Amino acid sequence: MAHRMLGFVHTEMRMPDKRSAEERRHDFNEIYPGFHQDRAGEQAGRCSQCGVPFCQVHCPLHNNIPDWLRFTAEGRLEEAYEIASATNTFPEICGRICPQDRLCEGNCTIEQSRHGTVTIGTIERYITDTAFEKGWVKPRLPLRERDQSVGIIGAGPAGLAAAEMLRAKGYSVDVYDRHDRMGGLMIYGIPSFKLEKFIVLRRIAWLEEQGVRFHPGTDVGRNITLAELRQRHDAVLIATGVYKARDIRAPGSTLDGIVPALDYLIANNRVGLGDTVVDYESGRLKAAGKDVVVIGGGDTAMDCVRTAIRQGAKSVKCVYRRDRRNMPGSQREVSHAEEEGVELVWQTAPEAFHGDSRVQGMLASRIHLGVVDAAGRQTPQPVPGSEFTLPADLVIKALGFEPEDLPILFGDANLKVTRWGTVSIDFRTMMTSLDGVFAAGDIVRGASLVVWGIRDGRDVAEHIHTYLRRKAQAATANPVATAA
Ligand code: FAD
Ligand code: SF4
Ligand code: SF4
Repeated sequence: MAHRMLGFVHTEMRMPDKRSAEERRHDFNEIYPGFHQDRAGEQAGRCSQCGVPFCQVHCPLHNNIPDWLRFTAEGRLEEAYEIASATNTFPEICGRICPQDRLCEGNCTIEQSRHGTVTIGTIERYITDTAFEKGWVKPRLPLRERDQSVGIIGAGPAGLAAAEMLRAKGYSVDVYDRHDRMGGLMIYGIPSFKLEKFIVLRRIAWLEEQGVRFHPGTDVGRNITLAELRQRHDAVLIATGVYKARDIRAPGSTLDGIVPALDYLIANNRVGLGDTVVDYESGRLKAAGKDVVVIGGGDTAMDCVRTAIRQGAKSVKCVYRRDRRNMPGSQREVSHAEEEGVELVWQTAPEAFHGDSRVQGMLASRIHLGVVDAAGRQTPQPVPGSEFTLPADLVIKALGFEPEDLPILFGDANLKVTRWGTVSIDFRTMMTSLDGVFAAGDIVRGASLVVWGIRDGRDVAEHIHTYLRRKAQAATANPVATAA
C-alpha cells in the first residue's frame, strides 16, 4: 500500500495535542495524552520509507522503524507491535522518554530536508499502548527450562531487559535491588509527567508473570555479598547504575535547603506512589511557596525544575554555566519547562550561598565561553565583577552522577574499574575481570539513557547465554573436572 506512505509532501508534522502549560503546572500526569488511531496512521504515513533509514541507524536499538510505520499507516497494528517489540523490551517507555530529537527523529531524512520529522517516538508509544489495551502483550515464556541460574544486581532498564531475555531462554533469573520497588531510575528518578508509574509497574508484573523473581530491599554489599551471589548463581550481572551525586564546592554549600537532585526527585516520586516521606512532609524536599534554584543543564535539572513548578514553587530558575546550544539536556524538555514558567539563566555559575543556617540566596557570576577544549567544548570562564545574587530558599544540585566505589562496596578488589570508577568489561564478551560476572548499563557507560540501558541489557543477555552454554557443555564433556 505504497500510496499510504510518502505523506510528508501533503501532510504536516503533528504531535499529539499537548495539554496546556497552565493545566500541566497543577498535576503530574503526562503532558501528551497520546495519538488517536486516525492521527497515528496519518502521521506514520508521512514516512518516505528510505532505502537507508537514518532513523534506524541512529536508534540505539536499531529498531525497524520504517516497517512499523508502514504497518501503522495501513492499520495493521498487531504486526506493527510484533516488529516494534522484536528489538525493544520496553517500546512504550522509549516512545515516551527517549530524547528523540537527538536520536531517531533528529536524523529522520524528512526532518533533514526541513519537512518536519516523522513523529517516531509517539507512534512507537501508540503501537505498544494499543497492544496492551488489546491484550497482545504476553510474557515470553521459555520453550524449555534450563538448570542454570543468573543473579542480576539492579532492576533498572539494563537489568530488566537482560532478565527478560535470559528468562525467555529458560534460565532461572533472580533480580536483586536495594530499593523497595523495581524499575531503577524509571520508577524513582524520572518524574511521572514524563513516564507515568503504572507503565513501569505494568512491566514489572509482566516480568513476574514470565517467572523472573524479584528481591526488593536487597542491597548487595550490605545485605549480601557479591561472593555469596557468585556461589548462588552460575552467572551474575552487575547493572547498578550510577548514583554518587557530583557536589558543589563553594562557601555555604552545606547550608540547610541545599539538596541533591535525586533525593528531591525520589521523594516526589514516592509521594506520587502513595508513600509517606518524612522529608517531604517536613518541607525539606518540597518546593511549595519557595524560591527554587536548580543548578545544572541536563535532563535531571529539567525534571527538578518542572517538579518544583508542579509542587507550587513561588519562582523556579535553572542556572547553567553554558548556553542553550551547549546544554546536555533535550531541547524539547527545555521548551516544556519554559512553557510551564521556568526561567533559564544561561552562562551563569554559583559562587557562594548565603544564609544563617538555612540558605536564603545564591551568589552567582556570569560566564564567558572561552577557547575550545580537547573535548571540543568552549571552556566556561567567570566574568570578573559580574556577580549578582539570586533569592533562593531551596537549591537543588543537579550536576550529574558518578559510580559508587564498587570494589569496596562489593568487597572484591579484583573487580576492575576504570579511572572514572565505571566497571571495566571486555567489550567482546561484556564480562568483568571476575569470571562469570558481567556488567551493563550506566555502571559501564557512565550516566546515559534508558534506551542504551535496554540495548546493553539485551546484548549482555546474549553474552551470558554463550558463557553458560559453554559452561554447561564443559560440564557434560568432563563432569569430574567440573565438579572438582
Ligand atoms: P538504573 O536505572 O540506575 O538502575 C540501577 C538499579 O540498581 C537501581 O534500581 C538501584 O537501586 C540498583 N542498585 C544500585 N546499587 C545496588 C546495590 N549495591 N545492590 C542492589 N541494588 C543496587 N534517560 C532517558 O532515556 N530519558 C529520560 O528522560 C531520562 N531522564 C532521567 C531523569 C533523571 C532524574 C535521571 C537521574 C536519569 C534520567 N535518564 C533518562 C537516564 C536513565 O534513567 C538511566 O540512563 C538509566 O535508568 C540507566 O539504567 P541502568 O539500568 O543502568 O541503571
Ligand atoms: Fe527512537 Fe528511542 Fe524508539 Fe529508538 S527506541 S526509535 S531512539 S524513540
Ligand atoms: Fe521514514 Fe524518516 Fe526513517 Fe526515512 S528516516 S524511513 S522518512 S522515519
